[in-house]
Amino acid sequence: MNHRPEQGRLPGDGRLEPDFEQMRSDGYAAIDLLVDHLSTLSDRSVGHVGSAGEMAELFSADPPDRGRPFTEVLSHAREDIFANSLLCNHPRYFAFVPGPSNFYGVLGDLLASGFNIFTGTWLESSGPAALELSMIDWLCRTVGLPPQSGGLFVSGGSVANLTGLAVARHDRLDDRTDDAVIYCSDQVHASVDKALFLLGFGSHQLHRIGTDSEFRLNPDRLRQAIARDRAQGRQPFCVVANAGSTNTGAVDPLAPLADICTQEGMWFHVDGAYGASAALGRRSGELLADLGRADSLVLDPHKWMFQPFEIGAVLVRDKTLLAETFRTSADYMQDAKTTGQEINFCDHGIQLSRGFRALKLWVSLQCLGLDAIREAIDRGIVLAEMAAREVQRDDRFEVTSPACLGIVTFRYVGNRLDGRARLDEINGAIPHEIMATGEAVVTSTVLDGRMVLRMCVINPRTSEHDIRRTVTMLADTGDHLARHADGVG
Ligand SMILES: *Cc1c(COP(=O)(O)O)cnc(C)c1O
Repeated sequence: MNHRPEQGRLPGDGRLEPDFEQMRSDGYAAIDLLVDHLSTLSDRSVGHVGSAGEMAELFSADPPDRGRPFTEVLSHAREDIFANSLLCNHPRYFAFVPGPSNFYGVLGDLLASGFNIFTGTWLESSGPAALELSMIDWLCRTVGLPPQSGGLFVSGGSVANLTGLAVARHDRLDDRTDDAVIYCSDQVHASVDKALFLLGFGSHQLHRIGTDSEFRLNPDRLRQAIARDRAQGRQPFCVVANAGSTNTGAVDPLAPLADICTQEGMWFHVDGAYGASAALGRRSGELLADLGRADSLVLDPHKWMFQPFEIGAVLVRDKTLLAETFRTSADYMQDAKTTGQEINFCDHGIQLSRGFRALKLWVSLQCLGLDAIREAIDRGIVLAEMAAREVQRDDRFEVTSPACLGIVTFRYVGNRLDGRARLDEINGAIPHEIMATGEAVVTSTVLDGRMVLRMCVINPRTSEHDIRRTVTMLADTGDHLARHADGVG
């Protein structure tokens, strides 16, 4: 066919929109699908994992030349796309870090996307930028950072770690990485490795310090490592602490680590992507009392502040360092220059074009109120303690790390007659068996070289019954696997 355009004639009628009544009814159809889904979540399977082959087949066709009705596309999406994912907001999804999200956050995202707010410059978004500043300010106060602190929203903890560590490198090393050494525990999140790699540090420049029996960084060992490195002419420059490690929820001893950083002139970066949100609740006790000692801190509202993906926050003790690290100049940005209090977020981080992530958080907090969020956070902490008690009561299990900030780990030990390797195998197999039933999703992890089960229970939809049911299922599945092996072996 010949697609050569006629000379001088504009293609199309200039619109990519349906008529406005159609727009409304299509919009309502999407909301209806979502509410139907959310209102039946607990009765649903936690989802389905397709093979690469199966999935590729579903999506092998090119986009059509002529469009089709939205409702048809919606059904297609429901059947082929949404049905082939795990529902990480499901009340029995206990894997990794669940994403409970909340409906007002979803509406906030819809509005941010619908108005298509660009938050890179003040010129284009004075109101949205001021709102982001105010949400960031509130987060800084929540974690106890001083008034001169600031930050910005990014996609999540990974980019927040990258941003914070870039500021550290700029401020303490003038961007020269050569002999610098960064310290963290052996429980550090992989995104820190990634960030350091991107910032030009070699993997030999990251020193992993051993942890104590509850998987917290040991300050004495850190001191020794710093002294050794200094004696060898290297440049200790930064400590990365966990405030809620992904494996066990462990919080490194923040005050002693901050003291060491002060004494040694080092930067103190706290990765609270998972756990720092709990500072808002009332049950994290002393664990998070010293978050405010950080030079930079990461907190993911899309985890334990119940926001839809993506929203992470990086907070910096001295907010002027953000612009010092990231400001550049471009000829086409003349009209967007700012002075004084008006800031361009594009000068404070990696992105120029950036969406309005702050809106969903603001809408959620306005509609739900802080008390509801605090209670939802506290609920996760209490549920993990309850899960640990359930596990402890069953002598087929051993608790391998205490309930901490919504996470508990444990190991199926059955009749204790099986050897360590065999138990590793069983514990590694349990999650697959459970997932295949669609009843729950639990994942395994490795602690002290042993395979263990791990539950992260921060979803406010999760009931005590959900926990009991899942713990029983895990134990029975372990028994089944152990018996099966006996039969075979
Ligand atoms: C989840 C997590 C990250 C990474 O955050 P993303 O939002 O997934 O990019 C970093 N650190 C810790 C401790 C985390 O739990």
